[in-house]
Amino acid sequence: MKYYILFGPPGAGKGTQAKLISKEFNLLHVSTGELLRKEIAEGTELGIMAQQIISEGHLVPDDIVVGMIEHIFSTAEGVNGFLLDGFPRTINQAKMLDKMLKEDEHAKVDKVISLIISDATIFERIGKRAEVEGREDDAASAIIKNRIDTYHTQTEPLIEYYKEQGKYYPIEGERSIEEVFESACALIKE
Ligand code: AMP
Repeated sequence: MKYYILFGPPGAGKGTQAKLISKEFNLLHVSTGELLRKEIAEGTELGIMAQQIISEGHLVPDDIVVGMIEHIFSTAEGVNGFLLDGFPRTINQAKMLDKMLKEDEHAKVDKVISLIISDATIFERIGKRAEVEGREDDAASAIIKNRIDTYHTQTEPLIEYYKEQGKYYPIEGERSIEEVFESACALIKE
């Protein structure tokens, strides 16, 4: 099984690219954000707890998202591997992922493909997404600011973590969907 991570700030285009890439390489697209939104829509206990946190632009506790990922890994069938979108988001999550892969399958993260965009573009894209998709956590600028701050303080340190392991591959995210997709495909084929 292959394990790829699609990395980047909110609004970088991870979801759009993940859908295209997973189809191209028969990978299972796993978005922790989408899984959490599903829990919220279904009104589960987990969903009720996550809703408040997400609507403030903060991160859901590591144990919860790691538990969701573990479940998906253990039940998936008929795929070449996984494309993780929005996970891991903290160093602790990355360490838990490494441990899980090593213990369960003697596997490891293969590549981290990172979409690079500026904070100004993040604001612009998230604002548009709020209009189109009606995502509550995209709507208010104070919440968007929280999500960008959370990204810089908690998620960005992962760049060094994966660079040290020689797994970090940045690509320019401020291009057309097709151009970004082509760069990502080239990295996976390498
Ligand atoms: P996303 O759709 O990836 O932008 O995720 C939406 C929201 O879900 C985030 O702002 C977080 O509140 C929560 N979330 C998604 N993935 C994670 C994760 N790996 N760790 C913690 N919280 C997460």
